[in-house]
Amino acid sequence: MNESYRCWAEIDRRALRHNAKVVRDRIGAAELLAVVKANAYGHGLVGVAETLGKDAQLFGVANLEEAIQLRAALPHPIMILGPALPQEIATIAEGGFIPTISSFEEAGEFNRVAREGPISINFKIDTGMGRMGVPESEALDVFQKFPALLNIKIHSISTHLPVSNEDANYTREQLQRFGKIVKQLRAAVPGDFKAHVLQSAGTLAFSDPLFDIVRAGIMLYGISPLPEFQKLFKPVMIWKTRIALVRDMPKGSSISYGRTFITPRKMRIATLSAGYADGYPWDLSNRDAAVLVRGQRCALLGRVTMDLIMIDVSKIDNLQVGDEAVLMGRDGNEEISCAELAGRAGTITWEIITQVGSRVRRVFV
Ligand SMILES: *Cc1c(COP(=O)(O)O)cnc(C)c1O
Repeated sequence: MNESYRCWAEIDRRALRHNAKVVRDRIGAAELLAVVKANAYGHGLVGVAETLGKDAQLFGVANLEEAIQLRAALPHPIMILGPALPQEIATIAEGGFIPTISSFEEAGEFNRVAREGPISINFKIDTGMGRMGVPESEALDVFQKFPALLNIKIHSISTHLPVSNEDANYTREQLQRFGKIVKQLRAAVPGDFKAHVLQSAGTLAFSDPLFDIVRAGIMLYGISPLPEFQKLFKPVMIWKTRIALVRDMPKGSSISYGRTFITPRKMRIATLSAGYADGYPWDLSNRDAAVLVRGQRCALLGRVTMDLIMIDVSKIDNLQVGDEAVLMGRDGNEEISCAELAGRAGTITWEIITQVGSRVRRVFV
């Protein structure tokens, strides 16, 4: 079935559901908002959303375009986590999506375009992320004006944690501050709106102040933002490619652009059908990265090129052109984790998976 793919990502539906269950078990009665922005973190938006349809109560996307794609697949409430552009407001309202609001004026725009019943919004408060939301000091004043917007219904109030996997003290204090604000807003404006703050790292490390909704992203894909919780999760994506050539190179041969690697001895070298145009980071060049072939680590040699990479297969017998190689994931007893690739490439796991290219076929298994 994969015979024709040169570079593909197998998406394990059972692993996805396993991870969703792990999250569900930790969050009690809270609702699970599955974050599927950026093509479900590179895993394939519609396939992932359909797989999680029974586990998640609502879904989160980055923008209107993603919301429209998702709506075609699922009936669940869809929250748009990023800010709306002025030219998108009418379409967001018509689509019944839940926009995230950062000011009273923005809410006023939605109030103006509402046609069929009230528009549910997510009222965002900036408690330290510095990216979206009403500044914390003004939140109460702004919120008290909302009952004047007759076409607006508050779905939820929320904030975002900037250091949930880096600074536990700040995060704990931030959660307390947000908890107080939630109380104040609920006292000031009656309504049954929900509160949410925890993303993956927050959910894992600070599960006591749960609030009503949890926004789960990377952990659903089996990648823990905190290494100590990794064993709870199953990576969902295995990223594969094929051996396109096998060549015996004499000692002293230069490999790839820049001639940064010169064979120290006679070597058998495989050329693989994956490169930075597939999302395999160029920054892995000469960083001791490896690819798995038959469950063995084979060193990446020289620089990553656009469509091809070279690896040392000297120790592998009977290798055939067309054989599979694993860029990320498990093969036998060996594994190249997303965290390993991110560490070597000097980036974060979120970037590795969202960069997996459009040329890479997503194969749901
Ligand atoms: C992306 C995003 C999340 C998910 O974050 P993870 O760390 O991947 O769990 C949660 N909330 C908001 C507002 C986001 O933008």
